[in-house]
Amino acid sequence: MRGLMMDWPLTLTTILERARRLHRKREIVSRTPLGVHRYSYGDYVERVDRLRTALAGLGVGPGDRVATFAWNSYRHFEVYFAAPCMSAVIHTLNVRLFPDQLVYIANHAQDKVVLVDATLLPLFNKIRPQLTSIQHVIVLPDDGKPVDPANGLDYEELLARSAPASDYPAIDENAAAGMCYTSGTTGNPKGVVYSHRAIVLHTMVQVGADMMGMTAKDTLLAIVPLFHANAWGLPYAAVMSGAKMVWPGAFLQPADLAPLMETERVTLVGGVPTIIGALYQYLRENKSKHDISSLGRIFVGGSACPRSLMEGFRRDFGVWISHAWGMTETTPIGTVAAIKPHLENLPPEEEVGLRLKQGLPAPFVEIRIVDESGKRLPEDGKAFGELQVRGPWIVSGYYRDPRDAESFQDGWFRTGDVANIDPEGYLQLVDRTKDVVKSGGEWISSVDLENAIMMHPQVLEAAVIGVSHPKWQERPLACVVPKPGATLTPGDIIAAIKDRFATWWLPNDVVFIEAIPKTSVGKFDKKVLRDRFKDHQWPE
Ligand code: ADP
Repeated sequence: MRGLMMDWPLTLTTILERARRLHRKREIVSRTPLGVHRYSYGDYVERVDRLRTALAGLGVGPGDRVATFAWNSYRHFEVYFAAPCMSAVIHTLNVRLFPDQLVYIANHAQDKVVLVDATLLPLFNKIRPQLTSIQHVIVLPDDGKPVDPANGLDYEELLARSAPASDYPAIDENAAAGMCYTSGTTGNPKGVVYSHRAIVLHTMVQVGADMMGMTAKDTLLAIVPLFHANAWGLPYAAVMSGAKMVWPGAFLQPADLAPLMETERVTLVGGVPTIIGALYQYLRENKSKHDISSLGRIFVGGSACPRSLMEGFRRDFGVWISHAWGMTETTPIGTVAAIKPHLENLPPEEEVGLRLKQGLPAPFVEIRIVDESGKRLPEDGKAFGELQVRGPWIVSGYYRDPRDAESFQDGWFRTGDVANIDPEGYLQLVDRTKDVVKSGGEWISSVDLENAIMMHPQVLEAAVIGVSHPKWQERPLACVVPKPGATLTPGDIIAAIKDRFATWWLPNDVVFIEAIPKTSVGKFDKKVLRDRFKDHQWPE
């Protein structure tokens, strides 16, 4: 017997329509080089409608890729809904990638149109001659200056002369809505194509109270870039809920973010640990200057949240950071740390330990861990192996890429992360398969070591890498950035962590460096460190 329900496509047009009907008065605030810009969802939707007409006038049709090269601001976000709601595909380019990678990505995706922040033109114009499929460049005049026609079309002029589109094309829920490339820590970046259905289901689950719990009363500050895994889906969730949105533009320094949080009464923040860590330090040092008492939730993901950051935010500002795990390939939410009722009121040490885990799988997402032969491992919180995942918003194949075979096993996506799962179902990431230190046939978690080192009060940041060793294949080397004025020796670092690990886990050496190199999305770039220290001489 079949259900007798309407066959209703799950497309982003429904979310946009809801905003049009119900959330007209909510505000969207953007920090721009000219100051703070604000308008309403009503204005937003009207401009999205105009943009749909404008893009169609430039020949953008179903399935065409509309690329963006921009910071988080209202104009960029207009493209986010305009492209998919006219059955085209938004493709966010990561402005921090190397030029060669950007050229590869834009050409591989066959982007037809690209919308570029005026302030990013110097960067964009360097790669422009090598882009083979782009037919139109549209400039988003974030600097407030007239657009030089040599650079492209003026976004504001295009909108002004385009009538708002009044209806939508019929869109198949499985049609592509968006596209994003992984940042390609090894080999060329891989393209992930999100369907309308995947994004809609992801959004519905994301707003749940045990997930990111977004409501119309929230004010979202998405520090995570729109080009980093859909800004974790936060903006879609905001539009569906009618939350106020605050876009930081290119102003990602704590001294810029803090006043924005204060004046806009931000309740919910999403960002990677490096940025949230810098924000925390700043807020702590300037505590009397900024009232951030509206803040209710901070979501941190992309790399592991350091314990000191989790504890510090709670101690100094009364807010627990919520840890979440995901990937470009998982739209991105895989797991979110929520505390089950019977695990509340644990002793403080255990509570932090639980919150530092990456959390419980989102509804509809299934996770498992397997050993090197692909055999499922017990979920006892101890055994660790490769994390695999499946579900309605998990990638089923990369866009025109031969590397699929190695990325899937029996319908499960192989994440390349190493993790354990405890009997309560909490996921804990141990490392990435390529970062784990392979010592004498055993694995040592670089992440555990660096987190322990970062607990030292004189340490600013630390990364641990595996460096080749004549006897053990690899041994851990700790690369430590001391705080200004610190007086540290390698022995101090080892002494501070030696009681927490088996002796054979301890780094064989410690080097002090000025900064940990970061990837385009703010993660420790261990590839660069491994290169730099590949010939490191171990002490006797
Ligand atoms: P890239 O693969 O280019 O780094 P992604 O942003 O898609 O870009 O990264 C996904 C990876 O980030 C995951 O596979 C995992 O290794 C790491 N990651 C994401 N969230 C967390 C987290 N909460 N803790 C530790 N690592 C995380």
